[in-house]
Amino acid sequence: MNKGSKKDIAKKVNSVDELDYFEFLENAEASADEIVLQTVKCNNCNASTTVDTSSTNNACPYCGDKLVIGNLKPESVIKPWGLIPFRLDKTEAIASYKKWIRKRWFTPSLFSEVKNFQGVYIPYWTFDTSANIQFIGERGDEYSDGERVYMLWTDVIDEVQWYFDDVLICASDAVNESAINELRPWGTESLVPFEDEYLKGHISQKYEIDLKMGFHKAQDKITDGIEALLRGHIGGDDQKILKARTSYTDITFKHILLPVYIIAHDFKGKPYQIIINGKTGKVEGKVPKSLAKIGVVLASVLTLVSLSLWFLI
Ligand SMILES: [Zn+2]
Repeated sequence: MNKGSKKDIAKKVNSVDELDYFEFLENAEASADEIVLQTVKCNNCNASTTVDTSSTNNACPYCGDKLVIGNLKPESVIKPWGLIPFRLDKTEAIASYKKWIRKRWFTPSLFSEVKNFQGVYIPYWTFDTSANIQFIGERGDEYSDGERVYMLWTDVIDEVQWYFDDVLICASDAVNESAINELRPWGTESLVPFEDEYLKGHISQKYEIDLKMGFHKAQDKITDGIEALLRGHIGGDDQKILKARTSYTDITFKHILLPVYIIAHDFKGKPYQIIINGKTGKVEGKVPKSLAKIGVVLASVLTLVSLSLWFLI
């Protein structure tokens, strides 16, 4: 992946001391190129989004609440380094959704309608970083004396360094996190340099998770992967990790936008979001079950069972 020149928004922080990297990120954020977005804050879910000026539908893409266009105000944000353009048009995205919802038999009929449907560029951070890990652990090797199997434990004190590339962190908290994480893979090789033109006809959102918070989340993600890596590094038949200390160097970040379509439903006073990957058509989201539909199916099954019993008698 292109690491970006000085001109790019990608910022590089070299050999940052463990305790200072957030300060470095703060400085990098302050010196980054910015663009101004005209955004409006949703009174219901608090998301700050732009509005699609080519549409008369001025509803919040996340919850479907009406947006007060008179409240549009300019906001400076870090200029996106790049984005993945929408590959599916609205008709194709709706077709993906209809195919998906048809397989969910017990979903209330309301969900067959496509209301509050909008294309949104979701803000993301992507981080590259080296992680230096000093650790104390134990390696267990099994051996047998012919009768019993024993575990022989050996102390391991070591230092390793791994490079983590493209750690992707969603910077929106208006979108359902577990659902949007399921929209992968995005294929960051499809990223193109950012141009204002791409935003026309779509909504974009201001990041709510700032750069520092984003790197916090990236660290959590990296930490989750480190344990398995350390176990592989220690080797043997079993491993213990007693202490590990991680520091990060060569941190780079990019602010990018990824394309999704969102359908926001309100059912019995509860909001439901269904999101569609605007590049691949993959659909994710939770939908409620209709008790009436389940009742109809149960009644049919019971009728069939009683009919077959009748024939057996
Ligand atoms: Zn909203």
